[in-house]
Amino acid sequence: MIVIKVGGAEGIDLDALAADAAALIRSGRRAVVVHGGSHATNTLSERLGHPPTFITSPSGHTSRRTDRRTLEILQMACRGVLSQGLVERLQRNGVNAVGLSGMDGRLWEGTRKEVVRSVKEGRIRLIRDDFTGTVDRVNVGLLRVLLDAGLTPVVSPPAISVNHEAINVDADRAAARTAAALGAEDLLLLSNVSGLMRAFPDESTLVPRVARSEVEAAAGWAHGRMKKKVLGAGEALSEGVRRVIIGDARRSAAVTRALAGEGTVFQ
Ligand code: ADP
Repeated sequence: MIVIKVGGAEGIDLDALAADAAALIRSGRRAVVVHGGSHATNTLSERLGHPPTFITSPSGHTSRRTDRRTLEILQMACRGVLSQGLVERLQRNGVNAVGLSGMDGRLWEGTRKEVVRSVKEGRIRLIRDDFTGTVDRVNVGLLRVLLDAGLTPVVSPPAISVNHEAINVDADRAAARTAAALGAEDLLLLSNVSGLMRAFPDESTLVPRVARSEVEAAAGWAHGRMKKKVLGAGEALSEGVRRVIIGDARRSAAVTRALAGEGTVFQ
């Protein structure tokens, strides 16, 4: 079992990635594909006249301000375009893929943050109408039904809260949860960088291996959303996933290369 998280940042070659993932699946490997929609949501938000805004928490983490309109735009980007794009590409390569959001069949169930703290001009503001949260539970039964029927699930945000609201969740961490829940051996986090760099963007500082005890230090080298990947990698390892690889999806055979240990391997 393998979970492949496909990034959405600029430069990713989705055609090549889908062809490579499909070859692996056709050879008999069971796979769940996960993707987010951050970059596409930014672009679509601009085009729809509701530009993206970001919140900085008191601890310095940045996250998307997800009001109801932003949530709808995220749904349009994820389910409307990206999910269908991946399903189409996998189908073209002989894999019977099925696109689902984390809400479908309560695939990703989580907790909505009731209050989000935002620091602005040195003052803390409380936001109560934000639709963000984390995935606490994965409907593994549904994934297994699909996999047993020879189908390949393609899963993306939003998730569903315990109170039945759509919530925006980080796709890297949701992928980590999914891999752990499925007892996957490998989790691939494929993006537009060659891996985690100690001094980004200096390629010569690529970190080839991170032991479980080094994850905290590794999180210190990551900025922005790369931090979520490192956090997700740490969570996946501590929940029993054997290997997490941050690999490069700009190059051909991204899945094969990552599985061969190219990129940053957390083990
Ligand atoms: P995706 O949407 O493809 O999952 P993200 O944009 O969430 O990708 O994260 C990848 C980005 O993380 C890279 O494009 C890079 O700009 C940024 N980044 C921050 N710190 C690092 C680091 N230390 N090493 C590599 N990339 C980093």
